[in-house]
Amino acid sequence: MSVLLLMLAASLAAPELTEGPRYFQGAFKRPIYSELEGRPLEKNLRELLSTRQVASLVVTAPGGAQIAYPPLKGLRTLNPAVGRAIRLMLWNQQPGLEMDLLITPAPSEETAAMKLPRVPVTLIWEGETLAVEHGPVFDARYPALSVSEFLSRWDVTLEIENNDWTEPELGLLDQALSLLTPAEQAIVTQIPFRRVAKPPPPDGRHDSESPVAVFAFDLDNGARFEFYRPRIDRDRTVFRGEPSAPLLMPVAVLVHEFGHAIASGPIMAEISPYLDDISTSFLAYRKLTALADSGAAPDEIAPWRTRYDERMAALAAQGCSEDQLDAYLNRIREPDPAELALDALVGDRQRVSEYAYSDAAEHFAEMFELYRTDPAAVERLYPDVADWFDQGGHLARPD
Ligand SMILES: [Zn+2]
Repeated sequence: MSVLLLMLAASLAAPELTEGPRYFQGAFKRPIYSELEGRPLEKNLRELLSTRQVASLVVTAPGGAQIAYPPLKGLRTLNPAVGRAIRLMLWNQQPGLEMDLLITPAPSEETAAMKLPRVPVTLIWEGETLAVEHGPVFDARYPALSVSEFLSRWDVTLEIENNDWTEPELGLLDQALSLLTPAEQAIVTQIPFRRVAKPPPPDGRHDSESPVAVFAFDLDNGARFEFYRPRIDRDRTVFRGEPSAPLLMPVAVLVHEFGHAIASGPIMAEISPYLDDISTSFLAYRKLTALADSGAAPDEIAPWRTRYDERMAALAAQGCSEDQLDAYLNRIREPDPAELALDALVGDRQRVSEYAYSDAAEHFAEMFELYRTDPAAVERLYPDVADWFDQGGHLARPD
């Protein structure tokens, strides 16, 4: 099998690959990445080559090697994803950056008509050298699993709103679930997996930015994962993990959502005995207030008030008072213990991604996502956090 290997080295002599520290860079995620879409590759590389003392750019592609620099002639034939990655690394101006890419050889006249293989390549910027690790040709597809095959592997509730689960979607779910430990799987698989219509794209943004899945948890409906039409091919350029075992980004997105659920594990466990009564009483309360607001007759409102009172009495009999309900509501809104513990552990250090700065919940989910999809990256960056996950610190129940 042919493999594309890109090397950018400080010397014209046979460049050596160095393996420096490797870092996950969350800033490489789509929003910033897409800012570079459409930028002329040649301009990016000219900037690169003028800002660094880079003497050669060597591309070895199926069919033989080509020296791309010098001269600049020929840069257009470099895979655009690689050009963007190099540009991003320089843009961030941090040593030890790492970026994972799925790249295809630059099309030439002979290869343009061919279906070119994709190769996972990790570019590592270290000092003046861009080192490269690459894996074998990667067929970026998920295993197809039928519903019965999936359910024979996982004891979960698969719900359908208005779109059937497809076999590659179930393969994607299977891959994401398989990355969790048994204790984490036990939390996640208690939660219904609901296949729903595709959400609208965020305001003014491209369709590709709408989510693949979300974890939602409230007192009305309890916890559930909502899976939208997964754009299984939505990111054809980036992978996560080692080049020898690359994971497509939607797997990481699902693991991120699983992370939210795992952080909420203790509060979910505490509320679950009461949840049916809580959601029934909330529904009745909303119904009776809507009727009262619309001037409905008392005998129309009365059955809903009765239902509400009955459910609240049932809750009180189980030891769940109105004050307790308020406390639960507040706890759902507040950071979970695992999220606070991770914040405290990371302290003032740089967070794992830009998105991790959103709040404690996203910080936890981003770190969890990286730890389950690329543990070596967390071990390099935050060895104490890796230990914490290993020892189950994120699953500890508060006293
Ligand atoms: Zn999130």
